[in-house]
Amino acid sequence: MSSPTIHVVMHDLPAGIAQNPSNFQDACVAVDTETTGLSLQTDKLCLCQVGDGKGNAWLIKFDVSGNTPTPYAAPNLRALLENPAITKLFHYARFDLAMLRSHLGLGDIAPAFCTKIASRLVRPQGAKHNLRTLVNEYLGITLDKSEQLSNWAAPQLTESQQAYAASDVLHLHALRQKLTEQLAEAGLTHVMDQALKFLHTRVEMDLRNLPEADLFSHH
Ligand code: MN
Repeated sequence: MSSPTIHVVMHDLPAGIAQNPSNFQDACVAVDTETTGLSLQTDKLCLCQVGDGKGNAWLIKFDVSGNTPTPYAAPNLRALLENPAITKLFHYARFDLAMLRSHLGLGDIAPAFCTKIASRLVRPQGAKHNLRTLVNEYLGITLDKSEQLSNWAAPQLTESQQAYAASDVLHLHALRQKLTEQLAEAGLTHVMDQALKFLHTRVEMDLRNLPEADLFSHH
């Protein structure tokens, strides 16, 4: 990929890009979030990254200081997430979907695709499923994870934070293509589709703080 264009914006996407599926490669948008931590109940959404698969990454920054009365109004981001003609791509969608739903007050964000679920279905037992490994093994690109635990609530993001945040949405389109091919070769396309349907139930359970336990477990 040629060098990406990173757009840092406050509180929302610019108007006019969200409604048109042809603005996005394969009618898919790559989405990731950065937060103050992993709790759906107490942590805050600091950043939402959006990638169009054509080299653009928007970093939507939310003021979590308490000085902005409604930081999560985001009508343009909302329109994108609610557009049924655009597939939302995530790596570990379960967390991002729950964070986006709880902060933006949205229902199911669909259709969605998760590269981690696809990896769990097609890669051998014991293989790693983190984004860094997948991007390296499928695309031959080495991602820098040095900012993983960075302070995303900071009023200004450093260049290094921006590059890191953008990199999380720059490769999901290519990964989805590779994983979709592998799912088809393994005859697992239908299983993947059904897993993605259940994903929305799993997210709903997380938002209701229901236990992690496997619903289908005997014990
Ligand atoms: Mn990320």
